Formats: sequence, structure tokens, C-alpha cells
Amino acid sequence: MPYEKNFCANCNRLRVSAKGKLHLCLFTEHGVDLRDLLQSHSQRTELIERLHGQLQAKKETHYLHDGVTGVTQHLASIGG
Ligand code: SF4
Repeated sequence: MPYEKNFCANCNRLRVSAKGKLHLCLFTEHGVDLRDLLQSHSQRTELIERLHGQLQAKKETHYLHDGVTGVTQHLASIGG
């Protein structure tokens, strides 16, 4: 079940909100701003480096079991 604690064990999901924020999980507190690197194709390398750097911070699970929903109170607000 998606809301069970171990559902995320193999998660490789990332989302980018309509406001250009990278969310490492649907239920994180904060997104990482990518807008400054989404202006030109010439920024591609720097964008990839930022994404790789952020992946290190991706947690192994959500914390819904602790009542933490992060900024996503409604999945539709982040596209899913
Ligand atoms: S809740 Fe977060 S970590 Fe779990 S599967 Fe969804 S996006 Fe991945």
C-alpha cells in the first residue's frame, strides 16, 4: 500500500513543480529552486550537477507515518 512505511524502498521519483522547484519526494517540506537554471540550454551542465547534488539528500521513505505531509497537502498541487 502506498502509505505503508516501506512503500518507498525502491523509489526513484522526482518532481518539478510548475514553479520550478525540485521535490525529491511528494511529501518533502521544501523544494529546491531550479528556475535560475531553466532559462537557457547552455545551463544544462550546471542543472545536471545541481540535480546530482540534490539526489544525495533524497530520503529512503516518506514520514506520513509520523504525520508529516510536507508541503503536499493535496497531490494535485504537485501534479500527482
Ligand atoms: S512518498 Fe516520496 S519517497 Fe515514497 S514513493 Fe512517493 S515520492 Fe517516493
